[in-house]
Amino acid sequence: MPHYDLVIVGTGSGNSILDHRFADRKVAVVEKGVFGGTCLNVGCIPTKMFVHTADVAAAPAAGARLGVDAELRSVRWRDIRDRIFGRIDPIAAGGREYRREHEDNANVSVYEGRARFTGHKELTVELPGGPETLTADQFVLAAGGRPVVPDVPGLADVAYHTSDTVMRIDELPARAIILGSGFIGAEFVHVFGSLGVDVTMVARSDALLRVEDNDISQRFTDLACRRFDVRLNSRTVRARRTATGVALDLEGPVGAQTVEADLLLVATGRTPNSDVLDVAATGLATRDSGHIVVDEYQRTGVDGIYALGDISARHELKHVANHEARVVQHNLLHPDEPVAADHRFVPHAVFGSPQIASVGLTERDAAARGVRHVVSTQDYAGIAYGWAMEDTSGFAKLLADPATGQLLGAHIMGPQAPTLIQPLIQAMSFGLDARSMARGQYWIHPAMPELVENALLNLPLD
Ligand SMILES: Cc1cc2nc3c(=O)[nH]c(=O)nc-3n(C[C@H](O)[C@H](O)[C@H](O)COP(=O)(O)OP(=O)(O)OC[C@H]3O[C@@H](n4cnc5c(N)ncnc54)[C@H](O)[C@@H]3O)c2cc1C
Repeated sequence: MPHYDLVIVGTGSGNSILDHRFADRKVAVVEKGVFGGTCLNVGCIPTKMFVHTADVAAAPAAGARLGVDAELRSVRWRDIRDRIFGRIDPIAAGGREYRREHEDNANVSVYEGRARFTGHKELTVELPGGPETLTADQFVLAAGGRPVVPDVPGLADVAYHTSDTVMRIDELPARAIILGSGFIGAEFVHVFGSLGVDVTMVARSDALLRVEDNDISQRFTDLACRRFDVRLNSRTVRARRTATGVALDLEGPVGAQTVEADLLLVATGRTPNSDVLDVAATGLATRDSGHIVVDEYQRTGVDGIYALGDISARHELKHVANHEARVVQHNLLHPDEPVAADHRFVPHAVFGSPQIASVGLTERDAAARGVRHVVSTQDYAGIAYGWAMEDTSGFAKLLADPATGQLLGAHIMGPQAPTLIQPLIQAMSFGLDARSMARGQYWIHPAMPELVENALLNLPLD
């Protein structure tokens, strides 16, 4: 049974831990799939490459209100797909090659197979030649998560996609159903819709993106309902195969309905891979959600076992997984001076249409926690660059402590929201109050950040 100083399971953010400082340790890296993990292969990066393409495809239609009559003639799906994966796949292959072959990794063994714990600090990997069991002093569990497929009668018998497979299809369907109303659904409805697919979105609740601030979720839902066939408050009671694809029988506000399409994308959330890894066999605790319990140093309850990223994080985001990987890296190298992960102000973005970005408390959170706060909003339509874009729906919403002016939350929906929000994340992270931020610097006129400047000035502070 080979014994290692360190075993890392998962080559998403876990793969970034090793560098020359680990050269004196005997290390194993275990990966069941493609090197690079979710973000590179089936997550953030390809989706955003599709989103940008969708933005370009949507631009001609948006030109009319500016007096520019342009037309989208066609989209070449296979060229779009192959440009994206023609860039990504070599990066994944290069990462694998580097770990397996490069002299920098002479101390690293790569095991390519599914791993699960079969005893205390004992990991069994399914390899083509049969299972092999490894032991180690230290483990880093960075095995991420996977799409959840709901228990809908008949679903197992129809051909459906998840985000893991849908980006590699050969033909763009004429009609698609997206089951789910979270961020993955919101991004794909924009991608497929802009590329000319007739999309139906099925949501169990009365709004899309319900984790967002209510004003954002409501406005986004209203806009989506105008653009797509959105079925809110709809329970999927059955999935059926049809001659050309799939049908879903729904129970909704107007009774029983059926929606049909050539392609079904199931985007109903993700679950951590702690069950597949059978972390209980090495004595690790998980929360009800399946996430491994870790402390602020990313340590699990078992000495020498760390976890990071989607398998343990409340925020399943790549920038969080990367941050936690840096924390784990430090703590492996400097166990006597451990650093804690910083989860105070974790931002996220939804790259749909319009784009959304958010950090800190929603108004709902602030009310539920009894946090004293004031709110301001600023429409894109009220700033010069918003006039230039003829934007009619975007806005920024800020929450602040009225006494100190400290920002409590920021929510932006509209063009470039994930970029515009960054100074607000910075202000929250470094404790800059709203007044100082608004008046202590120049804001380029007439650029989009004037949205943020005005939202700050609109705050009714004491
Ligand atoms: C469609 C989509 C879009 C996204 N967009 C964004 C975005 O825009 N911004 C953002 O911040 N985040 C986004 N995310 C989330 C982001 O991709 C994840 O938070 C991040 O990739 C998690 O990294 P990780 O290292 O924890 O896990 P992963 O990157 O998932 O890596 C886990 C690795 O472990 C391997 N593995 C799993 N189980 C085993 C096992 N038993 N044995 C061996 N190996 C195993 C897997 O094959 C995988 O390679 C998106 C996710 C999806 C699905």
